[in-house]
Amino acid sequence: MAQLTDDCFAFDGPLITAADALARILGNLTAIADVETVPVSQALNRLLAEDVTAPHAVPPYANSAVDGYAVYHADLNADADTILPVVGRVAAGRPLGRPLKRGEAVQIFTGAPMPDGMAETGGPDTVMMLEDCHADDDGTRVVLRPGIKPGANRRLAGDDVAAGSTVLHAGSRLGPSELGMLAACGRTEVLVRRPLSVALFSTGDEVTEPGTPLPPGALYDSNRYAIGAALQSIGCAVEDLGILPDDPARIRATLRDAADRHAAILSSGGMSMGEEDHVRAAVEALGSLNFWRVAIKPGRPVGMGLIKSETGQKAVLIGLPGNPVAAMTTFIAMARPVLLTLAGAAVTEVARFRVIADFGYKKKSGRREFVRARLDGRDEATSLPRAVKHGRSGAGVLSSMVGADGFVELPEDDTHLEPGTTVDFLPFAEVFR
Ligand code: AMP
Ligand code: MG
Repeated sequence: MAQLTDDCFAFDGPLITAADALARILGNLTAIADVETVPVSQALNRLLAEDVTAPHAVPPYANSAVDGYAVYHADLNADADTILPVVGRVAAGRPLGRPLKRGEAVQIFTGAPMPDGMAETGGPDTVMMLEDCHADDDGTRVVLRPGIKPGANRRLAGDDVAAGSTVLHAGSRLGPSELGMLAACGRTEVLVRRPLSVALFSTGDEVTEPGTPLPPGALYDSNRYAIGAALQSIGCAVEDLGILPDDPARIRATLRDAADRHAAILSSGGMSMGEEDHVRAAVEALGSLNFWRVAIKPGRPVGMGLIKSETGQKAVLIGLPGNPVAAMTTFIAMARPVLLTLAGAAVTEVARFRVIADFGYKKKSGRREFVRARLDGRDEATSLPRAVKHGRSGAGVLSSMVGADGFVELPEDDTHLEPGTTVDFLPFAEVFR
């Protein structure tokens, strides 16, 4: 696995915008996930690790787009019906077996190869649809109507993809269409990234595993489940390291051990300046840690650094805040693009779409706010989706994430929002695919 430089997360500045923070961090990172060859049939959702070029034209041969009769356009009368002898029948996968001569027609079916022509005549170039023709009862002659354009209903070889052209780029996510394209190029195997290996743990003496009794002053661990699922949804292979108590020695040992086996380690909680925040101290003892004070709300400083294992392996550490909504927001805004870059993805940004805000809002200038909102019908005037603000907004209110379809994203410079304004919407369905 590739290694990262020690200073790739170095940052000691004041508040920084999310865009500037990402530009600085991602500019220092490269894909570190290993590559492997897998069967195309098992490559769904993997990240491509090669540029794929078409070894031949797709489709490989000129063929008919409809059922009908293939002819030379030059044989057709411009203003009157044309009667031609039908010399054969070409079905998909069953070529005519001889060139078609001028003055001949051949019955042809969708996907069947266009017959060759005689060397001096090129070849039949036009297919008239069955509905526009009239064949004799015995099928030996066909009457063709005037008015069809040359080349109609014929797909040329390479109509989809020219031989030698790049059909897929390294770093793209392989979805159904991409797998189909690989198969169309005759590929059975493809070079992809191995899923980025990520260890995940929660911290806090109060944080308790669901399924066990809940002592006074304790709550169940939601972050490991929410963030674990978020990691899986972006294609990471997650090892669950459980809940760690607020115990510096335990946290240090876990981090050092995890750095040997994983490209990245994600933690939640224990990262602020309080005396009970032990992750911070443990990370600083094992490597470098930098606090990125990103100007987003909800959010807290995100800790990012490198941890060295005993064997010298380096793992990226990302420390998310403990509050569940802050953990998810900072995951989306900061951890997700970092992890996708390490995983080998070319595109780490989520496609936003435009919606009409069905609410008014006041905010501080200088920070980007992610307002939890639900989509509800369409705005009459613009027919854009209408976004309704969720009623709750605390950093610990996980029900507001459940009740939202995504974030209305209000840029740094905005100070207030009038109802009816067109705004950007960041859909959870795109973030966690
Ligand atoms: P911390 O960042 O450790 O100071 O935690 C901030 C808040 O988030 C506290 O109220 C914690 O109880 C809560 N919290 C921390 N970790 C978790 C977790 N894994 N699941 C749910 N709540 C958490
Ligand atoms: Mg804590």
